[in-house]
Amino acid sequence: MTALVLVLNAGSSSLKYQLVDADTGAVAAVGLLERIGESEARAVARHTVLGVTTTREADVPDHAAAIALVLEAFTTHGPALTATSLTAVGHRVVHGGDRFRSPALLDGQVIAAIEDLVPLAPLHNPANLAGIRAAQAAFPDTPQVAVFDTAFHQSLPPHAYTYAVPRVWRERHRVRRYGFHGTSHAYVSRRTAVLLGRDPAEVNVVVLHLGNGASAAAVQGGVCIDTSMGLSPLEGLVMGTRPGDLDPALPTHLARQGVSLADYDHALQSDSGLRGLTGTNDFREIIARVDAGDPDAELALDIVSYRLAKYVGSYAVALGRLDALAFTAGIGENAPRLRAEVIGRLGLLGMRLDVARNDSGPPERVITSEDSAIPAWVVPTNEELEIARQTAALTVSPPASP
Ligand code: ADP
Repeated sequence: MTALVLVLNAGSSSLKYQLVDADTGAVAAVGLLERIGESEARAVARHTVLGVTTTREADVPDHAAAIALVLEAFTTHGPALTATSLTAVGHRVVHGGDRFRSPALLDGQVIAAIEDLVPLAPLHNPANLAGIRAAQAAFPDTPQVAVFDTAFHQSLPPHAYTYAVPRVWRERHRVRRYGFHGTSHAYVSRRTAVLLGRDPAEVNVVVLHLGNGASAAAVQGGVCIDTSMGLSPLEGLVMGTRPGDLDPALPTHLARQGVSLADYDHALQSDSGLRGLTGTNDFREIIARVDAGDPDAELALDIVSYRLAKYVGSYAVALGRLDALAFTAGIGENAPRLRAEVIGRLGLLGMRLDVARNDSGPPERVITSEDSAIPAWVVPTNEELEIARQTAALTVSPPASP
């Protein structure tokens, strides 16, 4: 029996979806709605089936209207979402706090727990909840599952997740490292072991998820033991518009200079990282400017690759033995220049780049030479398939034994 899962990723003004066969990974339809609830512009909906994309504009005031539009797209352009073909709905939920170590079948208690975690993810969890409520109203008889970005990192040991801050912050305000991008790190670390031809339970891998948001994870035999994002997705690596690691004295220093908390927050979310260093967060443009000799772009590439190499080095120490390094997401998969810079800084680990393999080849490929002590791989991420698999694992009962 195939397990057809509708994967929903609801953001504050967007809704992404995929209809995925969790067994084969085949994608039956992909879609995206943008500008939900924006008064000055109509929402744009794209629905792709068998390589054909249809686009329409509509007034979409909220997530319920967005789900209605998605259903209409399935009815009009296919494939038909009849109750029999759809096994389950899988929702990406950003923050599961320390409550969720694994995906959860959505019921009143789970929804209340996601609500309780809103203070930890004020931008994301409310949008995820809006998507859940709209989907529950649209598919009242279909099981629905929450798959949390934080869950894969709940295996971190206390010495990796505890910040050295006052007890009252840790206990009352739930201040600790949670980590994000967990579905991607889970998928890519397991896939890397499979590509190495080894059992994931035996393989130690560092995954570098480098998209607009970026994070590193140290995965020991399939279990995550450290990750670079923290209480929020701001910590760690240099990202598109976020700075990553900073001196904790920065907010008080800037407050004394008259910078408001709102301006501080906005600058760290939207005007820092690559954009703060170069004016753009488009990595293609940064590489083009490096090639043209732009000093800001050259410095940005140095900062990003230096930070990445420091994390890989420290995670190699944390893991005790490193079997592979994996690059994934928009920049990790598509920027050979950055991968070359990072591997070039990892000579101490005996890593050696193969320039030709790094520059081109199939999407999944090794990019180090045969004499590299540790192989590095490009492994495209597939968060939707991972959510579909985790959803199916909770909702599809195994066939009865004969
Ligand atoms: P997110 O899902 O976090 O929004 P993505 O994983 O889609 O982000 O990655 C977006 C980043 O990938 C952008 O910085 C973009 O410039 C970069 N990117 C995409 N394609 C390429 C490419 N061919 N070369 C270099 N960078 C690329």
